[in-house]
Amino acid sequence: MTPEPDSPPRTITANVNLNLSGTPVEAKITVPVAPFPLPMLLPTFRSLAETIIEHAVEDTKSEGLTISCRSGCGACCRQLVPSSEVEARLIHDLVVDFPEPRRARVLSRFAEARRRLDEAGLLEMLLRPEAFSDDQLRPFALDYFKQGIPCPFLEDESCSIYEERPIACREYLVTSPAEHCAQPSPETVHCVKLAAKVSRAVNRIGQDPTSRFVRWVPLVLAFEWAEGHPHDLPPRPGPEWLREFFEHLTGSEIPAPAAADPPTERIELDAEGTARAPG
Ligand code: SF4
Repeated sequence: MTPEPDSPPRTITANVNLNLSGTPVEAKITVPVAPFPLPMLLPTFRSLAETIIEHAVEDTKSEGLTISCRSGCGACCRQLVPSSEVEARLIHDLVVDFPEPRRARVLSRFAEARRRLDEAGLLEMLLRPEAFSDDQLRPFALDYFKQGIPCPFLEDESCSIYEERPIACREYLVTSPAEHCAQPSPETVHCVKLAAKVSRAVNRIGQDPTSRFVRWVPLVLAFEWAEGHPHDLPPRPGPEWLREFFEHLTGSEIPAPAAADPPTERIELDAEGTARAPG
């Protein structure tokens, strides 16, 4: 009897062992081998971000510092929040699916925020955020904050889309007194330092690596941006998405498997951020 040929694996598991500036990050990530859309990976990216945040919080506590962020404190929700393009589309779809009158309420807050940004002369630059130079962004962000424009999802000083909030929101934690966030300055607001920012790595996926511009979407304009940019990146196999994501996260090149390699059921990322098939 002729044995059945082995069928190719339908999923692949990445065993991730990273040392990000002294922060150990371990995870097993199972993804389909067949092409799939990037939004499917958002729960994975969020979970990795939470792992890195948890380590940072533990380190902060071991230094005798306390995280000041509390439920019901929405001071940071008047800041300029950078969303990735994939998250901006998710937010758009979330709002579209809100039942009335919630949808109308949130859309009117988006419209009011836009009106106030226009009135303050900040809208034009925000419509092309990739054009900001590093020197321009910080003073612009302070100007933005001074307008006191609440995020359209802020309700009773709490996030009304807590589970779906952008990764950048999750990554923002401070140890300075909460009241300082109402008058932020580099001297008075002390942010918890993270070993790596998942939000930035997600944002860079699919972008031209040779371009000096990195596209991002101000959360306050996410709905209208997604209306004009409805299409996600084309589907890609799981290993390709992960490889690019971890390259952006670690800043290290991860070699693609040789075309002649047989499909493997696992890929591993070692501490240097290189990927290899298990021996
Ligand atoms: S999405 Fe939520 S956490 Fe993020 S800025 Fe808006 S209200 Fe705040």
